Amino acid sequence: MHWHVLGAGSLGTLWAARLARSGVPVTLLLRDRQRLASYRLLGGLTLVEQGQASLYPVPAQSVDDTSSIRLLLLACKAYDAEAAAASVAHRLTPDAHVVLLQNGLGSQDAVAARLPRARCIPASSTEGAFRDGDFRVVFAGHGHTWLGDPLNPTSPEWLEDLQSAGISHEWTPDILSRLWRKLALNCAINPLTVLHDCRNGGLQAHPAQVTTLCAELSELLCVCGQPAAAEHLAEEVQRVIKATAANYSSMHQDVAQGRRTEISYLIGHACAVAQRHNCAVPHLQVLLERLQAELALKGLPTT
Ligand code: NAP
Repeated sequence: MHWHVLGAGSLGTLWAARLARSGVPVTLLLRDRQRLASYRLLGGLTLVEQGQASLYPVPAQSVDDTSSIRLLLLACKAYDAEAAAASVAHRLTPDAHVVLLQNGLGSQDAVAARLPRARCIPASSTEGAFRDGDFRVVFAGHGHTWLGDPLNPTSPEWLEDLQSAGISHEWTPDILSRLWRKLALNCAINPLTVLHDCRNGGLQAHPAQVTTLCAELSELLCVCGQPAAAEHLAEEVQRVIKATAANYSSMHQDVAQGRRTEISYLIGHACAVAQRHNCAVPHLQVLLERLQAELALKGLPTT
């Protein structure tokens, strides 16, 4: 199976480099010919692991190339996913599989609607990576990736490629539950860390706020058919706050570095779904509005 990886950012590079070094055929898909020229000048992707940098000369093309794609890894941000998928839609074979690495919810449905014939496979990852240069990524945190197809429980044969590449993973029939749980954890922690401008551990000073959000999120999860994702949510949120006390949340990092957040696919999505279900989430709604005001104040997109 030939992998095409769209998006040579943090996760795209992490996946492409590991697949390529295990001998799996991989092609990178870059935005345009200018990005392709910059990539070729550098000679490949650089992955830094335990302080050691290695160069992987993964073949690349721009998205407007014409060769066909059977297996696509969509490794862009949630707000870019639909447009990125649309840009290669004409290249997908009728039996194509598309793996979606986006955090949050909402972008997966948007992509699936754009690619009605493809088998879309959402994933949820706890791996951590960041870019420290152009086409250069640091593998910062080992983790695990869950993948699943809400419409078809049969696992795809290319999971073997992940095995040979050493990408820790598991096929799950319950991927939506995992994505909802992760989204709920994010909603209970990340926006507050931005508004209080603190590390995750700083939320230990605001227990009532966190507890109220967890209660609303648990109710929302039940209302939208995800009761398993609601189980012991408040306890897990407290556990995560303690275990990651010294870390800044991903949303805090995005805001601190002046980057666009994925707000619309996280707390924005939760509030939109709540509205659709007539489920009252007043504290989440106020939190969303305060977060949007904070982003606007900093000159960042509010969606
Ligand atoms: P990232 O570093 O910003 O990389 C995204 C890449 O997508 C960029 O290289 C960008 O290209 C490219 N891109 C966007 N639109 C494109 C298009 N139309 N055509 C071609 N390339 C396009 O993002 P990331 O950190 O890998 O995150 C990807 C997703 O994984 C996010 O939803 C994130 O929340 C999730 N996630 C990330 C991590 C992590 O540790 N990084 C962990 C778990 C989950 P340019 O470079 O040209 O802008």
